[in-house]
Amino acid sequence: MNREMTTSFLLITFAICKLIIAVGLNVGPSELLRIGAIDFDGHLTVHSSDLASVSSDFGMLKSPEEPLAVLHPSSAEDVARLVRTAYVSAMAFPVSARGHGHSINGQAAVGRNGVVVEMNHRETRTPEPLVRAEEMYVDVWGGELWVDVLKKTLEHGLAPKSWTDYLYLSVGGTLSNAGISGQAFHHGPQISNVLELDVVTGKGEVMRCSEEENTKLFHGVLGGLGQFGIITRARISIEPAPQRVRWIRVLYSSFKMFTEDQEYLISLHGQLKFDYVEGFVIVDEGLVNNWRSSFFSRHNPVKISSVSSNGSVLYCLEITKNYHDSDSETIDQEIEILMKKLNFIPTSVFTTDLQYVDFLDRVHKAELKLRSKNLWEVPHPWLNLFVPKSRISDFDKGVFKGILGNKTSGPILIYPMNKDKWDERSSAVTPDEELFYLVALLRSALKDGEETQKLEYLKDQNRRIMEFCEQAKIDVKQYLPHHATPEEWVAHFGEKWDQFRSLKAEFDPRHILATGQRIFQNPSLSLFPPSSSSSSASW
Ligand code: FAD
Repeated sequence: MNREMTTSFLLITFAICKLIIAVGLNVGPSELLRIGAIDFDGHLTVHSSDLASVSSDFGMLKSPEEPLAVLHPSSAEDVARLVRTAYVSAMAFPVSARGHGHSINGQAAVGRNGVVVEMNHRETRTPEPLVRAEEMYVDVWGGELWVDVLKKTLEHGLAPKSWTDYLYLSVGGTLSNAGISGQAFHHGPQISNVLELDVVTGKGEVMRCSEEENTKLFHGVLGGLGQFGIITRARISIEPAPQRVRWIRVLYSSFKMFTEDQEYLISLHGQLKFDYVEGFVIVDEGLVNNWRSSFFSRHNPVKISSVSSNGSVLYCLEITKNYHDSDSETIDQEIEILMKKLNFIPTSVFTTDLQYVDFLDRVHKAELKLRSKNLWEVPHPWLNLFVPKSRISDFDKGVFKGILGNKTSGPILIYPMNKDKWDERSSAVTPDEELFYLVALLRSALKDGEETQKLEYLKDQNRRIMEFCEQAKIDVKQYLPHHATPEEWVAHFGEKWDQFRSLKAEFDPRHILATGQRIFQNPSLSLFPPSSSSSSASW
């Protein structure tokens, strides 16, 4: 160790020892000395501003909790060095990758005994995206934000195929869930568009995996909620990027017609199809409910209120058609043919036309607007559900027209997806039907809002929705899942549970990784309160 490294080692050790004395951590001094002694290419910090910056998430539902230290890695080997140290330490202290901290329920948190790996490329000196135009893929660091992947690939006239609505999410973070948006009906979720991964397992090994190599790990990590390894590199399939997008919204008062049209549109896969199919429920207008975009602007000829009758629920189909400038002559004709088959309210067509990049990055504009009104950094009691197609109309009656009443506190997305675009070997869990819907209740809790916008009210509403589904036997699956007990996790994974548990035993036997998901118990944490039934044999 040179003098500079010795000084920083001593500083970190001193700061960590102070922490132990102050808060009585379980992690022993010998383990901390081991962390402090690691020779990282990046840097490990215990600086209060670094600890504070990773102590909460977008959900803001839990009290902030600072970790022991934060690693800003420069390479996969840095991540591996840290995880190996945790793996051999007596307490097997937790290590969690943090993408951009856009979880809702502390999934990227690590607790006071653990170390957060700050994966966000903008915060590290990790490799830049590498575009291979001839092979049609891009290699990206696991903490790269999708918006930066887009910018880099667009320099070559290329872009990934499957997206999320919001691009300030990390590649590793969305691939640990699924990564869905209106393109998923055709291209599948983002996890269906990955060719290869480099992963640091819970034993601290760097493993390359793909369809051909370490296949079990590859499929397990995709949708694996960070349980088997930290993704340090992902190879993502790309395609020629369109230049422009025609973006259309039409309204329905009949849920049946709305869903029939959505299902018809996602059955089209040839040249003549829309490229993106989503939709949302309109309960009432206002910034908080429509922050995803200010689409219904003054320039549109029709006001929503003119088609809404008696304050009833309306449904909005949202579709886009991508095109190149050279196709601008035929695009109108193609859209007209597609639209003729749909049964929306004829006077309710809202259209706009924009660059591809502006369409993909649309939610960021809304973020800036909400930030300017202090409406972004508020608690987000979001609930995301996959609902089987056979029960979506029961869900509509019970939830949209029932539990929600005419009030909400954020956008409510609803769109169908085809199960055959999801690889069953991945860890992601979807309902057991060929078609299922995402229903995303993206609510913001407002301290000074109406009663129906308060956090406790919204949390209670989520509980009532889940209770309704259980009583009505609607077999929903949570997307971005959050469960409180081991039994709920076993039920969530269903037939995939045995495989999930066996992958955990193989790749993270000491339960070091992503403990914030609260699926497996880390020896140095007590995540679940003792319960008579929680010691089930399957655990
Ligand atoms: P984090 O919250 O930092 O991490 C999430 C989990 O993944 C944690 O358990 C963490 O430990 C683990 N993790 C992070 N990085 C890695 C890695 N490199 N390797 C292994 N594990 C890792 N999702 C969609 O699918 N579609 C959407 O349209 C969509 N829109 C969103 C819009 C907004 C405004 C927000 C806040 C979220 C949205 N999401 C959407 C949800 C998003 O996919 C999840 O929040 C996801 O967790 C990604 O966020 P993140 O990169 O910040 O990950």
